[in-house]
Order: sequence, then structure tokens, then C-alpha cells
Amino acid sequence: MRPSKVARAAGSGASVPIECCQVCGHAPLDVVLSLGYMPPVNQMVPIGQVPHQLPWFPTTLLHCRHCELVQLGLAVDPTIIFPPEYPYTSGTTRLLRDNFTDLQRESASMLGLSDKDLVVDIGSNDGTLLSNFQSGGQRVLGIEPTDVSDIANQRGIPTMKRYFGVEVAREVKREFGAASVVTAANCFAHIEDVHAIVDAIVELIKPDGVFISESHYLISLLDTLQYDTIYHEHLRYYSLTSLKHLLEMHDLEIFHARPIPSHGGSIRVYAARRGVHAVQDSVRRILAAEPRGDSMIKRLDRFRNDVILSKLRLLSMLRDLKEKGAHVVGISAPSRASTLVNYVGLDEGLIDYVCEIAGSLKIGKCMPGTQIPVIEESRLYSDQPDCAIIFSWHIADELAPKIKAKGFRGKLITPLPVPRVL
Ligand SMILES: [Zn+2]
Repeated sequence: MRPSKVARAAGSGASVPIECCQVCGHAPLDVVLSLGYMPPVNQMVPIGQVPHQLPWFPTTLLHCRHCELVQLGLAVDPTIIFPPEYPYTSGTTRLLRDNFTDLQRESASMLGLSDKDLVVDIGSNDGTLLSNFQSGGQRVLGIEPTDVSDIANQRGIPTMKRYFGVEVAREVKREFGAASVVTAANCFAHIEDVHAIVDAIVELIKPDGVFISESHYLISLLDTLQYDTIYHEHLRYYSLTSLKHLLEMHDLEIFHARPIPSHGGSIRVYAARRGVHAVQDSVRRILAAEPRGDSMIKRLDRFRNDVILSKLRLLSMLRDLKEKGAHVVGISAPSRASTLVNYVGLDEGLIDYVCEIAGSLKIGKCMPGTQIPVIEESRLYSDQPDCAIIFSWHIADELAPKIKAKGFRGKLITPLPVPRVL
């Protein structure tokens, strides 16, 4: 059954609480964890501005016993979460670029894509994903509502500046024909009315067309304690079990799935109309390994307890450092840093500043909800503070050697899953 109450915050200028499961309609939902009230992750005021009133929103994670979906307890108007002055362009980390190359290679060989096939990417951003399909010889089209679509068009990736929905799907079909592949990387968990989006995808794909989604994976989130990826733009946290439930409501069948390393652990899922593709063993294997029912409830309880302990452990490590008079700074200010900083209660008394690489739009502003300044990273090497916490800890393996090679001599700390000195 589809939810009787779809939480629509878009255009409201405010937020709407989730009163029933946004996939199956079940109510009431169980509270997994509350991280308290949080500022929007992009709410960064200029350094030195006199503090003034700003909005904060409850950040609660809910679990549906019926379809196993884990979802945020509140939908916030996207215009508040994505203020136009903070355009977000696709991550440029090597990991993400390599992943999109791999996505093209895997899907083109598995599905036998040719130059006749149209690949449509929803939330295509600057066209990074589609550029791989273009190089592979496929026809490509991006759908991207923000101004970043101009960048994609300039680099030669045809992109429609529109919000995706059934109408846009029909328009694309009329102009370009039905899609062999529709991709949605890291936006399938963000869009408010998920059923409307799946309806539009079903409308857009050929009878034997394929929908490929990449989403942050709930089980990785639980296993590596990535509570810092919980913030208001992430409305849903999918397991394969909950995704299967959602897609089956639209007669789509998952025929292949694979864990991928993006964003600290994501899952790539292939789906098509029932019976079109043979279901691969990967699907059964991943489903069998996922907790559900009582074991999921126990798993989520353990997660909550571990999150609380991790906060205390990080504070205890910082107390020891500060008692010795250490200077502590942060490295990188990704969205997830906002959740960590605000949940743990880090402020400008504990963290002198956070460094970002030159050119970052965050430089000159304060970390959300605090007065910790974000400054250009050259200061890290001239100041040589005693310790630096890597807030992009999920890519610490990529970052730490670079930071050391550039000459930082202090301690590097990763805050999660267990705070430790590298
Ligand atoms: Zn549900």
C-alpha cells in the first residue's frame, strides 16, 4: 500500500514530520536514534558575523517494521537544505570517479549496450557519470534541476534543467525515445515522493530497460557507525530488503546488486520489469546476509548504543589532549562533518579551525551551528597544530598519505567508527 500521507516539504519553506512509512504507509514507526536538533549542513555563516537566529531541525532516525525501511523523521524544504549560494558539484575524489567508470564498464558489458542505447541519469549534476557512457559510445541525457546543469551542457553532456517526474519522462521519450538505462546515483534516497519518481522511471525505460541505482547502504552505515551521514538531505537509508520492497510495488525486479566503496559503503542495484533478466545469485546472497524482523530491531539497538559510546570516546580523547594544552584542528568540511560536530558538541573552544583545500566555497565561513572557522589548508602546514581530526574519515586512506606528504607532522585522528590516532 502506498503511504496515505506523503511528506511534502518542498516549497513549504519549512519542514514536515514523517507520520507513516514513505514507502509502504505503515505506522507507527519505531525510533532508532535521535541526534538532537541540527542546523542544515550547508548553513554556514561568514566568519566574524554577529551571531543571529538560525533554524535547527530535529534529526531522528525511524525504522519501519513492515518493509524494513530506515528513514529520517522529518522532511525539510530542499530550498533550506540546498541554498542556491552553495552549489554542490559531484565529488571529485578518485574513488567516486573510478566508481562511475566502473559503473559504465559493468553495465555496458552485462547489458550489451551499443551506440543506439540511450542512458538517462537523474540528478546528473555536472555530467561526471554520463561522460563515461558518452566515451563508451552510448547516447546520453542528463536531468538536473540546478544551475550545475549549465556546466554539464558546456562540457558537452546534453542536460535538461528540470525536476524529474512523469511529465519529463514522457517528454524525453517523445524527443529521444525510451531509455535502455536510467541511472540514479546518490539522489534516489533524497527525493521526497519516491513513488512518483519510480513511476516516472518505469514510464521512461524500454520494456526491457534497466534502472540502476546507487545509494548509501544501510548495512555499511550500521557496521562502520556512519551516523554522521544522517542529515536532512538523506531521507531514506536503504538496505537491499527495503529497496526490493519499494521496487516490487512497481513490478520491478532486482536482478543484480553489488556493494561499492562510494561514500563509505554504498550499494549498486540493477532492476528491470519482472522476468526480463535472470536474477543473479548476488541478490540472494546480499538479501540472506541482511538482518530483518527481530534481528534488525536488535541490530538497530546495538547501533544506537555504539553511537552514544563513540561520542563519549571522542570527547574523552579530546579531554586528554586539551588537558595537555594541545591544539586541535579539523581537516575537511564535508556535509557529514556538520552532523558529527553538532552531535558530539565540538565548538571553537575545542577545534581551532577546519581546513579545506584552496578554492573550496566553504572557506571564510563557519562550520554549521558553531563558530569554528573554515580556512585554507596551507595554515595546517605553517601552524603545525598537535592534532588534526579527519572529518572525511571514510576516505582517510586516500587523504592521510597526502597530508603527511605535504609536510604535516602532528597526529592524525579518525573520529569513527572508533576514534583513533593513525
Ligand atoms: Zn515501510
